[in-house]
Amino acid sequence: MKVLLVEDNKDLSNALSQALVRENFVVECAYDGQSALRYFDSLEPDLVILDLGLPEIDGFGVLNHLRNQKHTTPVLILTARNAVDEKVKALDLGADDYLSKPFEMPELLARLRALSRRVNLVSTSNEIVVGTVVLDSATHEVAVDGVKLSLPKKEYMTLKVLMEGVGQVKTKQILESNLYSWGEEIGSNAIEVHISNLRKKLPEGFIKTIRGVGYLIPKVGS
Ligand code: CA
Repeated sequence: MKVLLVEDNKDLSNALSQALVRENFVVECAYDGQSALRYFDSLEPDLVILDLGLPEIDGFGVLNHLRNQKHTTPVLILTARNAVDEKVKALDLGADDYLSKPFEMPELLARLRALSRRVNLVSTSNEIVVGTVVLDSATHEVAVDGVKLSLPKKEYMTLKVLMEGVGQVKTKQILESNLYSWGEEIGSNAIEVHISNLRKKLPEGFIKTIRGVGYLIPKVGS
């Protein structure tokens, strides 16, 4: 588990990184926001510990940048005691947890273990879930409401492309290029047939036709 530790107080940073190394974390230390962002890109950490008061780009700026770049890496904020506004702002910007200074090392380690369990849960899952439909790309199984469907390969692949791109319209050409290899014979209505077969097995309205453009699985709740 790789941790990016962003803390400009060198004494605190050293103490923290020693404790983390003892817990078998791999630790990279950044002492300002600018290098935090640079290290983030090269290290691709599993967790970030982020002090808010930093030179140059502060912790809010770092967090904001990471979330704008769609990085979902868990971020634990270090903040001053009683700084309720800071905690609220950081959580709203996408922080996953916070710890007020001064804190006890066992609490920090426990919070990191909790965050890392969450990382492991996410990264070991091959499932794409949209509403009641679950597609497992490791086993090629699809289930609706927990009941497994038996899908021919091309139907499975059609559904996979649409579910991976949930909320995005996929054109017939994109689907064809994902389903058929170069030069393979494709019936002119092959995609329509796969979609029609899928619709008989999936919840009503699960795959929408966008007339003249392609097909779409809408995001749940939209
Ligand atoms: Ca600081």
